[in-house]
Amino acid sequence: MLEARGVRKSFGATEVLRGIDLTVERGQVACILGPSGSGKSTFLRCINHLEKMSAGRITVDGRLVGYREGAGVLHELSRTELARQRRDIGMVFQRFNLFPHLDVLGNIMAAPTLVRREPAAEARAYALELLDMVDLAGKASAYPAQLSGGQQQRVAIARALAMRPSLMLFDEPTSALDPELVGEVLAVMKRLAAAGMTMVVVTHELGFAREAADRVVFMDQGRILEEGPTAETLEHPRHERLRAFLARVL
Ligand code: ATP
Ligand code: MG
Repeated sequence: MLEARGVRKSFGATEVLRGIDLTVERGQVACILGPSGSGKSTFLRCINHLEKMSAGRITVDGRLVGYREGAGVLHELSRTELARQRRDIGMVFQRFNLFPHLDVLGNIMAAPTLVRREPAAEARAYALELLDMVDLAGKASAYPAQLSGGQQQRVAIARALAMRPSLMLFDEPTSALDPELVGEVLAVMKRLAAAGMTMVVVTHELGFAREAADRVVFMDQGRILEEGPTAETLEHPRHERLRAFLARVL
């Protein structure tokens, strides 16, 4: 489903991704851990071409991200082609960025109706279904400012799902939340994982990783230092740096 090969990224003279290889199968959940500055967000942003790789290639669902191959040469996708490709990849960030002037239902329906041109009735029915899934059935007509951070983040998840993505990317979705609100967001993500969504999740929530992740990926200084099945990797880390990292976040 997701295949990254030799992904490199430099900002000026600084190489922040130094050859990332990662495969995530359909229906799998991969958790990316790693110290601050190790390149986790940059890698996630490369997956939907929010960040342009310096080298390497990424495919999602067998399709090359950001480029089209013709006669052995790579052509960068046009804005329209890129937008079309991005619809299949949902992303949830640390900050929820809901549209403040739209109510919850409006937030969830905006992209399906405006971008996918779904009939309003259909988009509305699916939005209500998703609201139920994120435990916010009663909040359809609330505005973002009237919701807690945890509720806003759950709306953000529903909004991403409304585009019916085949891959969901999460970049520290709970790290801006008050501790008592983290659980409700993780519960929704676990539900999504159990429903078979393919997910790449950057998080320091080891409890979530233990329960929901098939694999754990530890990034350090722009590389994947270690990866493997969740339990084995968390219980028996091979590298001292992962051991030290785990001791710190626990
Ligand atoms: P954190 O846990 O703090 O979110 P991270 O693992 O997500 O860290 P990145 O945000 O990917 O790390 O950043 C990796 C490195 O790339 C950092 O040294 C950062 O300063 C640098 N970097 C990220 N974006 C840019 C940019 N647009 N221009 C220059 N340097 C950048
Ligand atoms: Mg980050």
